[in-house]
Amino acid sequence: MREIECRASDWLFNAGLVGFINIVGKENVRMEGQSVFFDADLLDSFEDKYFAYFIEEYEKTLSWYKIVSFKKEMDRYRKDDFASFDEKALEELNNYIANVAKYYLKSASYVSVYPLIDATADPVEWGKNLAKVGALKKKETFDEKRADIIQEVKQVYLKLDQIIAFCNSEKGERYLAAKNVIYTVIKNAWNGVSFLNPQTKEKDTYVDYRTNFIDPVKEHLETNLEKAKFTCFTCNQPIKNLKLDLSFMNETGFDTARKTSHVWDFNNDIAVCAVCKFIYSCVPAGFTYVHNNGIFINDSVSIDTLHAVNEKIRSAILHDPAQTLTHTSPYRALVEAITNQVEDKRHYELADIQVVRYENETYRFNILSKRALNIFRESKNALTALQRCGFKEGNVNVNFYQETVRRLMNNENLFTFIHKAMYLKVTNASNTYYHMGHIGSLLEINTNFLKEIEAMTEISKGRIWHINKCGNEFKKAYPDHKRSGFNYKVLNALKTNNRDAFMDIILNSYSYLGKTVPDFFLESFTSDETFKTVGYAFMVGVNGAIEQEDKDKDGGNDNEK
Ligand SMILES: [Zn+2]
Repeated sequence: MREIECRASDWLFNAGLVGFINIVGKENVRMEGQSVFFDADLLDSFEDKYFAYFIEEYEKTLSWYKIVSFKKEMDRYRKDDFASFDEKALEELNNYIANVAKYYLKSASYVSVYPLIDATADPVEWGKNLAKVGALKKKETFDEKRADIIQEVKQVYLKLDQIIAFCNSEKGERYLAAKNVIYTVIKNAWNGVSFLNPQTKEKDTYVDYRTNFIDPVKEHLETNLEKAKFTCFTCNQPIKNLKLDLSFMNETGFDTARKTSHVWDFNNDIAVCAVCKFIYSCVPAGFTYVHNNGIFINDSVSIDTLHAVNEKIRSAILHDPAQTLTHTSPYRALVEAITNQVEDKRHYELADIQVVRYENETYRFNILSKRALNIFRESKNALTALQRCGFKEGNVNVNFYQETVRRLMNNENLFTFIHKAMYLKVTNASNTYYHMGHIGSLLEINTNFLKEIEAMTEISKGRIWHINKCGNEFKKAYPDHKRSGFNYKVLNALKTNNRDAFMDIILNSYSYLGKTVPDFFLESFTSDETFKTVGYAFMVGVNGAIEQEDKDKDGGNDNEK
């Protein structure tokens, strides 16, 4: 028995370490300070654990799951002898036949592993033989033809039994689900080698993984390295040659065979040992992915915390039964995991944390500062209200939550975003899913931000609320038909930071109404930030009814206009 030690290093390697721990289970390793210790025996049939981990974690997102989970439906109707089988059930069945069963059975990645599951079976043919059932001729109704239709359904169920049994067999899951996770999860982190090498001759992805990543580790452990001339780029241990490199890692490595200009004097000396390369292959298990967006928190105070914080993110994203996976999830999980005040409060006050996101096939880095953490904590309720808000610009969906967190992590204020959101709303643009109250929440978060950077101390939440109400009273008095002109001019003045123009419009409008101008407008002159905050808070009131209960309400409805 031999013990292997891996020490925390850069973020990518750390993601690999977390992935490794996830795959083998933390009870099977020893975490001590910056190191993970594990027994070399853990490498035996590691390839099985590797795929089993991805399949279990991402099960419900897999096309394999779509195929086999239909069995439950079928059993339900069989149990009550089709008494509850109605027109809608027929529609679902036909949809399943056309868009799931027939569609996936012929897909290339499925076809390539059929021989490994059962060489005598011909699922491609099964798929071809499937057809929609229960078609109605003109003037016929479902109820009239019911008996015939049920007969047809029973027949097609027999065919589906065969298909599902094949896919859901031990080997069916082993190979089909593995193919799914390769393309939906693993490929986010690395590519081009082993089972992701399009030229690979090995049909069995498990064997392909083992020969590429595990066998070299075993060989490495048996090699005498006393006279080795080189050292591993990551762990600094001696290595015999420079054969292994990191060119297979997405967006980080480079192909040393083709391009050496990245390294000193064009002589590549960036190579890793087999153990490190193996750990790098676990990177996709360290990140948590949603729709090809990944997140990893490189909080490397110790391996223990590194693993724990990412575990939290993962369970918040992948195992929260109440939440469906959306694009906001990684951010929401991130904010929730790190603003959890009950636990970990002390810990997160200690240091700035590196957040690594994988988006649009590139890695993006943020330092999650103490400041950003404070803002998230202060703004917890306001942020929650924004979860489902957003607008569509061309083909791009902009989500309030995501945009807000992104800007705060980058230390940017929200004024331009508030402006855009308000502008779209008052010009009656379609595809806006929020109301003025949500812009009020953005303002509140932005005020927390401004306070945190000490740009503005004099405006409290209560003050914003008051300004808001004055805006709303103004709206009630001001003629409706003049409002769009007023909106246009005021928003322009706010955007261009033109306080004189702004005050002109405000003074004119109030004198038109025969009312006194509220005193808070004078505060506009103290700073740019105050000016914008006062201005937008007023405009939120002018354009929407901001009742107190409205402000506390959770999120918008998806179809809110
Ligand atoms: Zn190494």
